Amino acid sequence: MRRQRNTKIVATLGPSSSTYEMIRKLHECGADVFRLNMSHGSHDEIRERHRIIREVERDLDSTISILADLQGPKLRVGVFANGSEELVEGAKFRMDLSDAEGDASRVTLPHPEIFQVLEAGSNLLVNDGKIRLKVLAAGEDFADCEVIAGGTISNRKGVNVPDVVLPLAALSEKDRDDLEFVCQLGVDWLALSFVQRVEDVTEARTLVGGRASVLSKIEKPAAVKAFEEILKVSDAIMVARGDLGVELPVQNVPPIQKKLVRMCRAAAKPVIVATQMMESMIESPVPTRAEVSDVAAAIYEGTDAVMLSAESAAGQYPAEAVSTMDAVAREVEADPNYREVIEASRKVIRSSVADGIVVAAREIAEATDIKAICCFTQGGTTALLTSRERPSVPILALSPLRDTARKLALSWGVTCYVTGEVSRFKQAVVNGARMARTKGFATEQDQIVVMAGVPFNVPGTTNILRVAPCEERLIFPSDQE
Ligand code: PGA
Ligand code: MN
Repeated sequence: MRRQRNTKIVATLGPSSSTYEMIRKLHECGADVFRLNMSHGSHDEIRERHRIIREVERDLDSTISILADLQGPKLRVGVFANGSEELVEGAKFRMDLSDAEGDASRVTLPHPEIFQVLEAGSNLLVNDGKIRLKVLAAGEDFADCEVIAGGTISNRKGVNVPDVVLPLAALSEKDRDDLEFVCQLGVDWLALSFVQRVEDVTEARTLVGGRASVLSKIEKPAAVKAFEEILKVSDAIMVARGDLGVELPVQNVPPIQKKLVRMCRAAAKPVIVATQMMESMIESPVPTRAEVSDVAAAIYEGTDAVMLSAESAAGQYPAEAVSTMDAVAREVEADPNYREVIEASRKVIRSSVADGIVVAAREIAEATDIKAICCFTQGGTTALLTSRERPSVPILALSPLRDTARKLALSWGVTCYVTGEVSRFKQAVVNGARMARTKGFATEQDQIVVMAGVPFNVPGTTNILRVAPCEERLIFPSDQE
């Protein structure tokens, strides 16, 4: 579906958005990518949502990307005899491996590996960081802590351990099971939670075996430190501000967000800014001014996509949340200041013929009255490089592969359509011009830029650029090409 904006919107599906009517409405209101969160929902529910997305895609003759998000090695406490307990500042509290139900003095933390790396002074954060415990002493199967910040601790609350690289496998038993399930279902993106090291990504990549593109969620201090290397082995990144803001002081999140967004753009890999973007819209039909500013700030930075979590998955106003993001994106992108920021943050990269061609395409398009940059792409590389340029004219990506088209739905400014195979550049130009006209990018009187790699079936060989008129009989007047 063609949008009136370049920034993409990712909407998480859940109980508030699991019917055909709602999923279709969210797509029509602006959701380009749907996130299936494997932390919630049974395989049957996930399968059903997946089926509906593909049905909506077919019914609207659109291209929709599906992102499956694995839970990852999220630590959780066990259960309490009373369901919950109140921890008061200054009190002592123990985490251990005992099977007994918890009480006011202790609870199970059923992850033996953790105790091996905890030491006096380590911090344990419970329930999104609301409760803070400091380790006084730790052994093989226990950690005695002091309550630094108190609160209610209840059954299976999440635990964050920010100070150490945890000796945990990147993928739990459940993750491996979920990974296989979604890969067989057929998803475009697989998101990895709590990535800590490069190996976490490469290991998952091996299991995925090319069946989906791999996105790393940056939500651990260790991942921020190793970011350059993690980016190299990932196809996309999520700035997962929810857990990142628990593991690090919240004020550290904005500069990290800015840095990650810029590095992803320079690497021509899509980046999503996520979590609490429209949080108050879980219960309110209108956002706060601060939320609007937050979404706007991410867009001004040039992010590929902004994301809704509970707002669309479990909130009362999923469609309103999507429409609000859409409206904010359109307004920001119409601001001359936006172009200025985008231009100023462009990194010139000169490492291949393709780099040169996409730069030329943008410059030609912006210097003259060109209506669209049309690129033929097999695996999506040409479209990703063109997106990195953040041109002021629309990017029309044409691919014979539906998987490529769907994957590109996450990328800034790319509208992708599936076309038949082309074997000659002449045919590509004719197809490109026709597509630009029929999809409303250009009229007969307009010109477009067409890029491709010849020979066509070899990926990553962008080597031709042509400025072509859109009027069919003018494209090759003497048929000499
Ligand atoms: P989550 O990831 O919603 O799966 O926790 C995003 C985040 O932590 O920000
Ligand atoms: Mn998270």
